[in-house]
Amino acid sequence: MSTIGFVGLGIMGGPMAGHLVQAGHDVTGYDHSPAGVEKLKAAGGNAAGSAAEAVRDKDIVITMLPQDEHVRDVFGTVLEHAAPGTLYIDFSTVTPATSEWTAAEGKKKNLRVLDAPVSGGEPGAVNGTLSIMVGGAEADFDAAEAVFDAVGKTIALVGPNGAGQVVKAANQLVVGGIYALVSEAILLMENLGADAAKGLDVLAGGLAGSKILDLKRKSMLERSFQPGFRIDLHHKDMGIILAAARQAEVSIPMGALTAQLIAAARAMGHGSLDHSALLLVAEALSGKERA
Ligand code: NAD
Repeated sequence: MSTIGFVGLGIMGGPMAGHLVQAGHDVTGYDHSPAGVEKLKAAGGNAAGSAAEAVRDKDIVITMLPQDEHVRDVFGTVLEHAAPGTLYIDFSTVTPATSEWTAAEGKKKNLRVLDAPVSGGEPGAVNGTLSIMVGGAEADFDAAEAVFDAVGKTIALVGPNGAGQVVKAANQLVVGGIYALVSEAILLMENLGADAAKGLDVLAGGLAGSKILDLKRKSMLERSFQPGFRIDLHHKDMGIILAAARQAEVSIPMGALTAQLIAAARAMGHGSLDHSALLLVAEALSGKERA
């Protein structure tokens, strides 16, 4: 069992840190927001008063933060305070460039670095069934096995540092596109006299079936958009995807369109809602907003 410093105890990091405690690790957590730290304490972890305190003298340091700037900021603290040889795992979704940077800077301080973005949403974090796409060296991947097993189910080393983020970008491309199309399907059924609830049940059982239909069709029909995964974060991810496509010199027209729909959701003031709120954009485009 390892000593673990965990920074970023939000929607995803909170339950993930809890699973690590349950697996028998000695977990010390820090978050800007005291609520996350209190929850970890109640779950049997230790509270740190700063990121520096959380990451000092640990076997493993973990971050689960919103965006690149937060990871770069906290990683500065890791570079300063973590012991040489520490295994650093970043579960956040950031640009491949940020993951490559943490690996390069970490190497100078003898830290072992993995990017390990996840998929599976809040239920995956709560149930410990996340999919984890890992970039880094095989020996470091092997050393992280106990951590990954505690929080995830489908776990793969997909290439060198940064490759985990590339696969996560592909994941977000698919997820965003499916939400956009499910939204349009709902609108179509609702406005042509079909029973949309029964219709979506049928879709979920056929070739159009997906995890999104399984988990979100009921809440979407109810127009319940409590996050989950915030539109603001998916907007960030679409930026990562479009930049990656540019770098790879590939054309992703469906991705570009999805990015615009997510940008519209944000511009309409829905940034804090779940990404299934793309349905509100589909409604607005057709003048079908509900009162
Ligand atoms: P969140 O906003 O709920 O949690 C992030 C936490 O980080 C917050 O509690 C915030 O207070 C804390 N934080 C920010 N800056 C900090 C700092 N400098 N020091 C300490 N704490 C700091 O976000 P989330 O939904 O948990 O997402 C985290 C990451 O996981 C994001 O990169 C997101 O894209 C990714 N992700 C989210 C989901 C999901 O469904 N929510 C799914 C897969 C991946």
